[in-house]
Amino acid sequence: MARNLDPKCRQCRREGEKLFLKGEKCFSDRCAIERRAYAPGQHGQKSGARLSDYGVHLRAKQKIRRVYGVLEGQFRRVFAEAERRKGQTGENLLQLLEARLDSVAYRMGFGASRVEARQVVRHNGVLVNGKRVNIPSFLVCPGDVVSLSTGARAHLRVKAALQAAESRGFPEWISVDVKEGKGTFKAMPLRSELSPTLNEGLVIELYSK
Ligand code: SF4
Repeated sequence: MARNLDPKCRQCRREGEKLFLKGEKCFSDRCAIERRAYAPGQHGQKSGARLSDYGVHLRAKQKIRRVYGVLEGQFRRVFAEAERRKGQTGENLLQLLEARLDSVAYRMGFGASRVEARQVVRHNGVLVNGKRVNIPSFLVCPGDVVSLSTGARAHLRVKAALQAAESRGFPEWISVDVKEGKGTFKAMPLRSELSPTLNEGLVIELYSK
């Protein structure tokens, strides 16, 4: 399986903001953005380097890809599906990314980061409506119940991730029973419930150029 192997904190520094790719470290003062809030590399600290119009559009797309941990090819496919569906392409795009099983598992606290949640999915630790699903890109539908397998629930890392997610609070579009290790994907998230720093409009412009 192809993966993005770029160091996580470096990806955040490239985008100039926290993308929350490393679990608990992201909420601590060990976060690289807190310590070095400039782009990585030899010329990262040069100020005043302005991005071209294309650069601005590219960065917007890369940021969304990085937040959701999706490679270019997959992202193109999700975008095509977003375009095909009724409604606004930009909102559809973010909703489809949030409905991926790895995203839902992360939002439910089954992993401290999307990468960790994806690993739990890949290792057969997640069930959808009682059936084992180990495909991170599987699309969860509103009303679906996503739960941890008995083995995954006993994992210390998973327990810690669940507790941390509970203490931070779960998003509106899911409900979670922490004790049982399961939750319901109640509805597709509204655009207003998702990060305002993501600019899906620029992605649409980029792909229509
Ligand atoms: Fe990004 Fe988390 Fe690294 Fe901070 S600790 S730079 S938020 S991945």
